Amino acid sequence: MFGLSKQCVLEVNEEYKTLEDYQGRVARWCPGCGDNGILTATQRLCRDEQLPPEKCVFVSGIGCAARFPHYMSTYGFHGLHGRALPTAQGVKIRRPDLHVFVNMGDGDCCSIGTAHWIHTVRTNMKLVAMMHDNNIYGLTKNQASPTSPLGMKTNTTPQGAYLKAMNPLTVTLGITNVSFVAQVVEWLPEVLYEAIRQAFHHNGFAFIRILQRCPHFTPDAFSSLLSDPKNLLMLQHEDGIQLSETMSRLYKTTEQHDPADINRARELADRDDIVPVGILYRNENVPRYEQVTKSTHKSNWEQREKVLNGAFDRFGIHADVASANEGTKAGDGE
Ligand code: SF4
Ligand code: MG
Repeated sequence: MFGLSKQCVLEVNEEYKTLEDYQGRVARWCPGCGDNGILTATQRLCRDEQLPPEKCVFVSGIGCAARFPHYMSTYGFHGLHGRALPTAQGVKIRRPDLHVFVNMGDGDCCSIGTAHWIHTVRTNMKLVAMMHDNNIYGLTKNQASPTSPLGMKTNTTPQGAYLKAMNPLTVTLGITNVSFVAQVVEWLPEVLYEAIRQAFHHNGFAFIRILQRCPHFTPDAFSSLLSDPKNLLMLQHEDGIQLSETMSRLYKTTEQHDPADINRARELADRDDIVPVGILYRNENVPRYEQVTKSTHKSNWEQREKVLNGAFDRFGIHADVASANEGTKAGDGE
């Protein structure tokens, strides 16, 4: 009718997932909260990797960041304060086929969850952990967290925080079996996205500390980093986070860093004068928990049932024993 000699056929891939397929409820974080950017980057990753939503699990503890699973249209577990990591490990042990992500705040990870953090790094299961670090307990309304800077006034430290802030990077880099540590800032979306993507492809436990703005309680926490690009040290290496042309023009303080060099990674993490951004450490060869504990003995269902019944018999209370005990007790009383 319009002079086209051939019929045009538009093929639509109905299996293709769009961003909407990963979007859950409308996020209820404060306007300008950095958590929004982390959510967008994560949804982008899921879309770009075409992860089946039913194969993804987002696990969190308690805090503003812990609302994350509600905003993803995937499986999720909004659990207990500080317990996101062991929950995620449990999911991964039982269902290694699932993509398991953890979202936790600085209080969640570095305070009540510290023991779990240390042991999750050590067991090195394939998980992506995003630590949203806004230097404060936000959900419970402005209490100092382990990463609150020295002197910062909060509801629990009205005279200013007494202690120097904990450095989550040096802690993680000091744990046996550490295999992936990155640091990014959420206000640079392309760097944030790339760090999450590389963490996702890492063959082990990937820990990302994300500096996250909390305009409500810590509006000035990262003002020096936002106002002067020179305060961010962009780590560069061949298979690391590549900066676009625009970013390269703006962020000129760079360092060639070999992420296999753990000693240099620790030195960079420990710097007080500048904030390193990028992948500090990566080692794909650290054994994962599921590898080292893999049983070579494959039992069938009958064998497993026999073992299970044996365990029940061992700890069960048998009727004849119970009645014999009752008789003994009755006799004792006479
Ligand atoms: Fe975000 Fe802070 Fe508001 Fe929590 S209190 S939602 S961290 S801006
Ligand atoms: Mg916090």
